[in-house]
Amino acid sequence: MGNALAEKNITWFNGSVTRKDREKNHGHKGFAIWFTGLSASGKSTISHCLEKLLHDLGCSTYVFDGDNVRHGLCGDLGFSREDREENIRRIGEMVNLFIDAGTVAITAFISPYKKERDRVRAIVGDDRFIEVFVDCPIKVCIERDPKGIYAKAISGEVECFTGISSPYEKPHNPDLIIKSNEEDISNSVGKIIELLVETGLINGALIKA
Ligand code: ADP
Repeated sequence: MGNALAEKNITWFNGSVTRKDREKNHGHKGFAIWFTGLSASGKSTISHCLEKLLHDLGCSTYVFDGDNVRHGLCGDLGFSREDREENIRRIGEMVNLFIDAGTVAITAFISPYKKERDRVRAIVGDDRFIEVFVDCPIKVCIERDPKGIYAKAISGEVECFTGISSPYEKPHNPDLIIKSNEEDISNSVGKIIELLVETGLINGALIKA
């Protein structure tokens, strides 16, 4: 990879403002909170509640939402294994740039393949990647079906749908598991904030202030 870039005369430009400088301005580190789980498990709902809380605490945040990214950056991709891998690869690289910008990047993608999630962890660095598994039984997700998409997947109108006609690989060792069918949203957000303070990614003083 490095050699291929050298052949194209592409080198990384290091500016005079570093990630550390940006983090100092923001008052926190740049890192990713990567939600994974079935459609309708609650990734977007929890992501946006978490963002609101972090934003109100003064953090620089951004939520990458599955459907939003597929409107533009990944609008040319479908849902085959190859396209799903490319979708997550692009998002991983973009999240890495947001981390370099000193931002809290929150992602709400099904991201069904362990290999792809692990690849993003490797890109951004273990100490800046918090994997949150939103673990909700598929039966409950089908009952929720906020976009009516499970009904279409079950009838065959939508193909390659995770949990119905395409696999979901559970994380073996996520940083946090949220059982969205057993706990309420504020409880889940509270657990994430606790973990961020414990790991030193945000300063506990922010919460107490
Ligand atoms: P996803 O992003 O995983 O596809 P969404 O957040 O879009 O899921 O949808 C989850 C649905 O489940 C929403 O309608 C939300 O209101 C509902 N829901 C019920 N209980 C919870 C909970 N404890 N956590 C998150 N979502 C919940």
